[in-house]
Amino acid sequence: MQLAARMDRLGTETAFEVLVRARELEAQGREIIHLEIGEPDFDTPPHIVQAAIEALRRGYTHYTSPAGIPELRAVVAEEVARTRRIAVDPQQVVITPGAKPIMFFSLLALCQEGDEVIYSNPGFPIYESMIHFVGAVPVPFRLWEEHEFRIDREEFPSLVTPRTRLIILNSPENPTGSVLCQEDLEVIAQCAIEAHAMVLSDEIYSRILYDGEHCSIASLPGMAERTIILDGFSKTYAMTGWRMGYGVMPHELAEQMAKLMVNSNSCTAAFTQWAGIEALTGPQDAVEEMVAAFRKRRDAIVEGLNTIPGFRCRPPQGAFYAFPNIEGTGLRSKEVQDVLLAEAGVATLAGTSFGAYGEGFLRLSYANSVPNIRQALERIKEAVSKL
Ligand code: PMP
Repeated sequence: MQLAARMDRLGTETAFEVLVRARELEAQGREIIHLEIGEPDFDTPPHIVQAAIEALRRGYTHYTSPAGIPELRAVVAEEVARTRRIAVDPQQVVITPGAKPIMFFSLLALCQEGDEVIYSNPGFPIYESMIHFVGAVPVPFRLWEEHEFRIDREEFPSLVTPRTRLIILNSPENPTGSVLCQEDLEVIAQCAIEAHAMVLSDEIYSRILYDGEHCSIASLPGMAERTIILDGFSKTYAMTGWRMGYGVMPHELAEQMAKLMVNSNSCTAAFTQWAGIEALTGPQDAVEEMVAAFRKRRDAIVEGLNTIPGFRCRPPQGAFYAFPNIEGTGLRSKEVQDVLLAEAGVATLAGTSFGAYGEGFLRLSYANSVPNIRQALERIKEAVSKL
């Protein structure tokens, strides 16, 4: 079979590969603690499940309009307007199966061969994969451990050129758990405005924040008209398997994304969209409880990681990932990942799964119970002591 050349440019998310390897070991009788995959271990809150069941019974089993049902688009517009303090019209909202398509569609709709796209490294691997896929030029900005994994504000403007078409931000960030501060956002906004570039602001972890309030670049003067806000239900409401997310963007781009939806998915599943309305308008206690649980787990994992020789870990400010520096072990990230899975039965991800600047780091998802986290830390400590 002859594959199209573009397939060579497509990357992947190694979390899924490590998960497969861990499952193979489990099938052989090994007991593995999973700290590799980025999804909440909680069940979807029952009132949201109930709303989906009722929607199915009410017959919401058909196609919807490609950009989503008007009722959900209106609720999302209200939510985003309130939380980002900007004006949002429901026509600016596009509902997609998971938030990931918003990345793909933004790059497809905005970037041509040779256009430059600035994005975080270490960062979510799909950005780089999709930038390559559409033929654009990846221009990574480094997140520095010494800057709490935020940008270097002096360096950032030097990455912008007349070919910069898009800047991709992710705050709170996967994999470092860092949160961009107001001054960082101001520097980036200034660059975007001067370069006439758009910003894709991946805010999927905006509700999983441990200190302060979420700050979106869209709220800065002159930025709402050049920002695509990506958010969704997967992380906030433990709904990864439902596949539902959204983008909020200028009208002109929303129309193009609706067209991309017609050409790919037709629409997002009808009954899940009704559950989405319940998620956003119903009680939020479950979200608060989940974030409180994540905070306890964060404290447990950071404290434990800092007692392991060769490891040092900064407390993440958001999301549910710890990103310790493991250079002190004398091994490369991928070697540590392999040793921990094979010897300790703990599935983690090498920092290099998130780009070249992830060398020297490991990502551990703490979407797991405190007892499991403590046991994983014991096992990691023992495996590291034998290196
Ligand atoms: N953005 C980031 C930074 C993520 O980590 C993820 C999920 N791992 C997504 C987007 C995608 O979310 P969804 O499952 O809604 O497609």
